[in-house]
Amino acid sequence: MELSKRQEEIIEIVKENGPITGENIAEKLSLTRATLRPDLAILTMSGFLDARPRVGYFYTGKTGFELLSEKIKKYKVAEFLQIPIVVKEDVSVYDAISTMFLEDVGTLFVLNEKGCLSGVLSRKDLLRASIGQQDLNSVAVHIIMTRMPNITVCRKDDSLIDVAQNLINKQIDGMPVVKDDEKGLTVVGRVTKTTITRVFVELASAKIV
Ligand code: ADP
Repeated sequence: MELSKRQEEIIEIVKENGPITGENIAEKLSLTRATLRPDLAILTMSGFLDARPRVGYFYTGKTGFELLSEKIKKYKVAEFLQIPIVVKEDVSVYDAISTMFLEDVGTLFVLNEKGCLSGVLSRKDLLRASIGQQDLNSVAVHIIMTRMPNITVCRKDDSLIDVAQNLINKQIDGMPVVKDDEKGLTVVGRVTKTTITRVFVELASAKIV
């Protein structure tokens, strides 16, 4: 995050004089306490300064990069997941391709007769099945999908950075967000490389905190 000139000055004052009260910081800058209040709030919220009642402000010693990395590690899947697009096991490869285009996604999740996760279909799975195949209507997706238990999944509580690392490790484009229940895994969302890219861009434009 970009700090204003005054915020930089406040950090320098606290670095040298901390712990120091808001009143004393204001004095050193020849400003009123009220004028400084928003700056002090920003600096404590973003983690540059810490405040102790009746003691004052002190410098945490953390750099902007350290604070940013702490912030990223706190992001949970729950805050960023996207809507999952699912098909049933007996749907044809032809219909799965249509669904992929209509829904504008790169990965489909396949559900069994109980409505639980049983497979994953990527673009390349469908392309592979299409090569040399005469009648795509006669092949069901359960024949060509990657199936349980070989599916990489994540849960709402997982941290987004772990999911991103897993997408890289497993060389996949996305994974289902699941909830465990007695029948199996229910699909409640999806996280893809696009999700991670979006978060990256939003971070740079400071749309998320
Ligand atoms: P693409 O097929 O476009 O390269 P991916 O890289 O996502 O797309 O998929 C590569 C392979 O990994 C495919 O065979 C796909 O079925 C499988 N796959 C995709 N997502 C997962 C997942 N979450 N868990 C296990 N396998 C997956």
